Amino acid sequence: SEPLEQQALQIVRELNMHGYAAYLVGGCVRDKQLGRPVKDYDIATSAKPEDVQKLFPRTIPTGLQHGTITVLRNRVPYEVTTFRREGNYEAFRRPSEVEYIDNLQEDLERRDFTMNSMALDAEGKLVDPFGGMNDVRDGLLRCVGDPRERFQEDALRMLRCIRFAAEYGLRIEQGTWTALLEKLPLLRHIAMERVRAELERMMNGSDPQQALRLLAASKALRYVKQELRLADLDGAEADPGWAELPEAEWRWAYWFMKLGADRLETENDLRQLTFSKQQTEAIGSILGAYHAVEAGNGDLPAEAKRIWVLAALQFGIPAMSALASLYALQRDDRAQQRWADCGPAWLEGLPVSQLSDLAITGKDLIETLRRKPGPWMGKLLQRLLEQAALGELPNERSPLLAAAEAEYERMQEMD
Ligand code: ATP
Ligand code: MG
Repeated sequence: SEPLEQQALQIVRELNMHGYAAYLVGGCVRDKQLGRPVKDYDIATSAKPEDVQKLFPRTIPTGLQHGTITVLRNRVPYEVTTFRREGNYEAFRRPSEVEYIDNLQEDLERRDFTMNSMALDAEGKLVDPFGGMNDVRDGLLRCVGDPRERFQEDALRMLRCIRFAAEYGLRIEQGTWTALLEKLPLLRHIAMERVRAELERMMNGSDPQQALRLLAASKALRYVKQELRLADLDGAEADPGWAELPEAEWRWAYWFMKLGADRLETENDLRQLTFSKQQTEAIGSILGAYHAVEAGNGDLPAEAKRIWVLAALQFGIPAMSALASLYALQRDDRAQQRWADCGPAWLEGLPVSQLSDLAITGKDLIETLRRKPGPWMGKLLQRLLEQAALGELPNERSPLLAAAEAEYERMQEMD
């Protein structure tokens, strides 16, 4: 089998040879049993962190407070964690202390879902005390133990529940679902970073449509710390194909568009969710472009191109490419069809898309018009950029400068 798995099993065997119990645990066991690609290998052992550090030449104490040592093999990290029981849960998230124990069973008991609570020993024997494989075969995602207690201990598990159910195409077992609906108010204790991380994994997962359906059905987002426009989500009706949009940003933009959020509302949600500045801008620009295009009258072909090109100058080419793809999903009316069909070609054909593409600069304007620098320069350059982008002017020095003189006169008259 996989070389990474061989390395992980080698670590398990070395621990065994020194008299410690050790197993592959968690996601890698689940994914291997389901025949899915394994992302990373986690190991649980009776060895204490100090023992693990002594035994292996290359280690990093990545999570010493939870008993985790990372062992490096061929530069690949393997997380080795001492069997533990979790002490009191603090503020509905992560335990305040951990207690090391010497048996696997209790370590598996503290885990969230039955399919995540399986272990594999060095001989490949599966340890599955809560019937994880049975549940998966029945198409069920189920909490280990009493679901109400488990969600009460750690509210993040509710979002993990929705993520895993969508990712693995499982139904949430009835008792688990009922407990989830009951405990949702505890989500207010979860940091927005963690909410965002889960949402991103849902959006990047194998079935974002199903994840959103579950978020909508549970109304989970109504209970997070900050108020979100996304909480109005109604996952039921969506255009087929949206989940296959190639960029996560486009998929987010799609949903804000569906919700009828404007750029400000969208960016506000994204900031509350601690998305990066770059993601926030990228998604916000798509919404900005969308509303700008919708505000124009796209029914007349010539006007449609003008609206599109001016939006491209304002919101940037990437936002417009995204928007064309979003329109391609809908095609409800003629304007949407035109944006989807012609938008990309109009972008291709743009002779200039930003001030730096223009064949003249502010300095050229000052020299030609012999005027003091001022706010007029930016306005004038913008006007020239628009005309060049629309193909009304060639992007060459002398015609641009000639047009600048005329345009300047016009601006003076208007003031
Ligand atoms: P993936 O990495 O694909 O999300 P995973 O199962 O590896 O899946 P991790 O978050 O990496 O998920 O956690 C590893 C294991 O630790 C889980 O399989 C589960 O057994 C346990 N675990 C993680 N988070 C929690 C939690 N909040 N409550 C209980 N157990 C958890
Ligand atoms: Mg993992």
